[in-house]
Amino acid sequence: MNTPDTPETTNTPAATAAPAQTNSAVAATATVITNIASLVTNDPSLGDGTPLGLIQDAALVIEHDRVVWAGENSKAPATDNRVDAAGRAVFPGFVDSHSHLVFAGDRTAEFNARMSGRPYAAGGIRTTVAATRAADEGELEANLVRHLREALRQGTTTFETKSGYGLTTEDEARALRLAARHTDEVTYLGAHIVAPEYADDPAGYVELVTGPMLDACAPHARWIDVFCERGAFDGDQARAILTAGAARGLHPRIHANQLSYGPGVQLAVELDAASADHCTHLTDADVDALAHSATVATLLPGAEFSTRAEWPDARRLLDAGATVALSTDCNSGSSYTSSVPFCIALAVRDMGMTPDEALWSATAGGARALRRTDVGRLAPGSRADLVLLDAPSHVHLAYRPGVPLVSEVWRAGARVA
Ligand SMILES: [Zn+2]
Repeated sequence: MNTPDTPETTNTPAATAAPAQTNSAVAATATVITNIASLVTNDPSLGDGTPLGLIQDAALVIEHDRVVWAGENSKAPATDNRVDAAGRAVFPGFVDSHSHLVFAGDRTAEFNARMSGRPYAAGGIRTTVAATRAADEGELEANLVRHLREALRQGTTTFETKSGYGLTTEDEARALRLAARHTDEVTYLGAHIVAPEYADDPAGYVELVTGPMLDACAPHARWIDVFCERGAFDGDQARAILTAGAARGLHPRIHANQLSYGPGVQLAVELDAASADHCTHLTDADVDALAHSATVATLLPGAEFSTRAEWPDARRLLDAGATVALSTDCNSGSSYTSSVPFCIALAVRDMGMTPDEALWSATAGGARALRRTDVGRLAPGSRADLVLLDAPSHVHLAYRPGVPLVSEVWRAGARVA
């Protein structure tokens, strides 16, 4: 505290700044992070003009929960509080736009069996449904919080999470109440699979999901999701579910085209879903539809890793002009990782993404998939959510896979990990 930095230039507009961004606008009580080897802003108007808005030898100023200045280290304004990044890289906190963290139980045995050659089928979800229903609320919340802390330590500062392991009105509403205590990005996924009690009456289950269950769940959620897949819900059922949700003010997103080709992606575009998630099996028409829409293609390579499945083709989507997000799909069955850096490494190694594209997709891409403009970037006005990496560049996320390089995580202007 009270150790003013002695930058060469104070009270002059930064060369790389947006018009409103002048040093004189920075309060003395702000905090400046100096000596950043490379700063990813995700604002193309800052830095090198690429989508990452990369600034070498940079500084960042935070006031309360917001970024107020980003630019060259030599032009940083004087403030009372100074943090020396000491040559580390800084980038926006990860925006994990797809996870399933309200669950109980363990599926180690299923994973072990699958790695011995058995294919993954959607029915594995029933194991988690039984364990989740049997768990009390305290147990579910403790498990949720444990996984959120785990993700935060690895750099995730915004997360979406879903219901989908209750599949009764009471259990789905309970899951969403719990999720809403810990994140704003809550998704109602009563249509994860047909509840076991309705195995012979899937139409009756759709009536429940679009009727009393929706009534109980809508107040706690922002989004509605459906697993559109053989063995789960077909295109007509998915349309009915998402349309009913939209009528209650929930915005759609879809588990689409994960295990097979199907109508999910086209339906997502038709309904202006924020995101079509998985996108592993796409026709040319699917890719084209995504490329000409506001629907983000969210790729979840942890699922393909954990099920030894074919990778989604990120390169094909990017070359067509689609917006791509990268997320964990963290759940105990098909993708039990909370690590966005791990997903970035997979995307770079096996899905044709460059390290720059993968980082953008895991930050700004995730924000787009949640239709957020305040996170996923480090430019004046954005929330001060950031990661300090024990490396000079974000490229090390893929270059040094599996190494715990995240050294500090800040959320809303406070150091949290
Ligand atoms: Zn999922």
